[in-house]
Amino acid sequence: MHSLEDMILHRKHLKILKNESMSKHTSWRIGGNADYFFQPKNFDEIQEVLSNLNDKIPIYMVGLGSNILVKDTGIRGLVICTKDMKEKIKLINNKVFVPCSIKCGELTRFGIDNKLSPTVFFSGIPGTIGGALAMNAGAFGFETWDYVESVKLINSSGQIEIRSREQFEIGYRKVSFSDQEFFLEACFIFKNQAHSKDELRKIVSVRKEKQPIGEKNCGSVFKNTKDYFAGELIEKAGLKGMRIGGAEISNKHANFINNIEGASSGDIEELINKVITEVEAKFKVQLEKEVRILG
Ligand SMILES: Cc1cc2nc3c(=O)[nH]c(=O)nc-3n(C[C@H](O)[C@H](O)[C@H](O)COP(=O)(O)OP(=O)(O)OC[C@H]3O[C@@H](n4cnc5c(N)ncnc54)[C@H](O)[C@@H]3O)c2cc1C
Repeated sequence: MHSLEDMILHRKHLKILKNESMSKHTSWRIGGNADYFFQPKNFDEIQEVLSNLNDKIPIYMVGLGSNILVKDTGIRGLVICTKDMKEKIKLINNKVFVPCSIKCGELTRFGIDNKLSPTVFFSGIPGTIGGALAMNAGAFGFETWDYVESVKLINSSGQIEIRSREQFEIGYRKVSFSDQEFFLEACFIFKNQAHSKDELRKIVSVRKEKQPIGEKNCGSVFKNTKDYFAGELIEKAGLKGMRIGGAEISNKHANFINNIEGASSGDIEELINKVITEVEAKFKVQLEKEVRILG
């Protein structure tokens, strides 16, 4: 067993960094330092680190950082960032084995090439499949877990387990699993049906028309409620365009908060809390955060 400090010194093939700024790894482009930051090239490297690690520190797995807010004070622990892994999608009979590091858009392209439907809904979700599994990401009425048959998980001691979909409690943007377990891969079963070019075109144009694409944000900050779209409530509360420090509620889509000018995580958190308070005061509705706060 080894400490992370030992691994940094003696296992140089592993890319383990110290005091890495998380602002380089989040779509908001903000966040303090992670004490340790590991970018594995493949599954074996993840297992090598976890099964040899004797430090008792919290471990976090992240993908493209498109749904996380890392506090300005950073993360005490080890962050494993999967976004540069080289694992590939495999199609075996009717089953699609998708590594956690695959970008959602890559799965859409794979689905189009192999006539697998409805992989097109992943288009425009700017995260990894690992993140999509953790969040039960979805769009246009489809959700990630609707098509999962089983997943391969690794725990913080490096033990690997395959679990079927039935072993999880799945809900809107949530899935039950331990915070010291991580998704390595998912086995999906899609319909054997081609997508039309129109479907993809429609998704791309709806996103462009309705969302502030290309800005620094994390997509929807709040979950929709049973009865209302969160964006609608925020807009009706008159909060569009509200600014705290360098953070601003988007004028295009009120459920998006943009980092327009060197925002801190504190600015974003303040704006989030302001929205929750104002919406509750005006509509007696308690908004729940979709974004995950780390640190
Ligand atoms: C412009 C924009 C549009 C968006 N549109 C949508 C949308 O339409 N629908 C939607 O659902 N989301 C949307 N999102 C949010 C986000 O892209 C999704 O939640 C995405 O699935 C997150 O993936 P990620 O790799 O970026 O995860 P991260 O942000 O890196 O992580 C998110 C959470 O997942 C956990 N996690 C990541 N990888 C793993 C893993 N391998 N094992 C265990 N846990 C893991 C992290 O610890 C964290 O809690 C949007 C975001 C943006 C910026």
